[in-house]
Amino acid sequence: MCAFGALAGAGLATGAWLARAAHLTDLWIVPAYLLIANLTEYLIHRLLMHRPLWPRTLYRNHTLGHHRAFHHDSMEIASWRELDLVMMPWFSLLLFFVGTAPVAVLAWRALGPGATGVFMLTAVLSFVLYEGMHALYHLPLGVLARLGLLDNGVFRFLYDHHRHHHRLARMRWTNFNISLPLSDGWFRSLETETTWREARDRRRQPPFSAGSAGSGGAGEDRGQFLGDAGLDQIRERRHQKP
Ligand SMILES: [Zn+2]
Ligand SMILES: [Zn+2]
Repeated sequence: MCAFGALAGAGLATGAWLARAAHLTDLWIVPAYLLIANLTEYLIHRLLMHRPLWPRTLYRNHTLGHHRAFHHDSMEIASWRELDLVMMPWFSLLLFFVGTAPVAVLAWRALGPGATGVFMLTAVLSFVLYEGMHALYHLPLGVLARLGLLDNGVFRFLYDHHRHHHRLARMRWTNFNISLPLSDGWFRSLETETTWREARDRRRQPPFSAGSAGSGGAGEDRGQFLGDAGLDQIRERRHQKP
């Protein structure tokens, strides 16, 4: 956490220092960056974190770690140490700097130091906001209530959006944005718990009186969707508390 804070602070300070030379016309970088970041956040989450593709570390940490630890009905961390199961490791910010450095160099050459500062500020702030939002979604409800967030309609919408993503039966299909669900809207993967329940209930209704009760049932929301034998200790620690 300290290393993450120091890196983020250094990035923000450098960005702010450079941004002193920015012009008003450089501000187009902010919405452009946020739109591209929203799409990137969506694609990495959907394609790499929920599929066992290279680099499998992302799938292992996210699907087998984070989703095994937190289900839609057990979103809260049990101790502050469990933030490790929510937040990315500190060096992910270092990798982020390395990954965005070529864009910063291009921005410097094409648009100058002021625009590069705006780019850096936007990039680091949105990264920190992403991590902060995700951490908030997993804080104890008592803490969120004390912060007044549960009464905030915008936060409630975003919280419910991510909570529904933690439903094991839906995690590979819906609600991949952690920040604003713009890309979820573009790719038609935006779903609320209410619309999902209604569609499920319609599917379960037998055409006539005969038939089974549907394919749902107790297993639908549980670990059968994770399958992998790895990281079982997380599930035990989180979901089999005395
Ligand atoms: Zn989460
Ligand atoms: Zn996920």
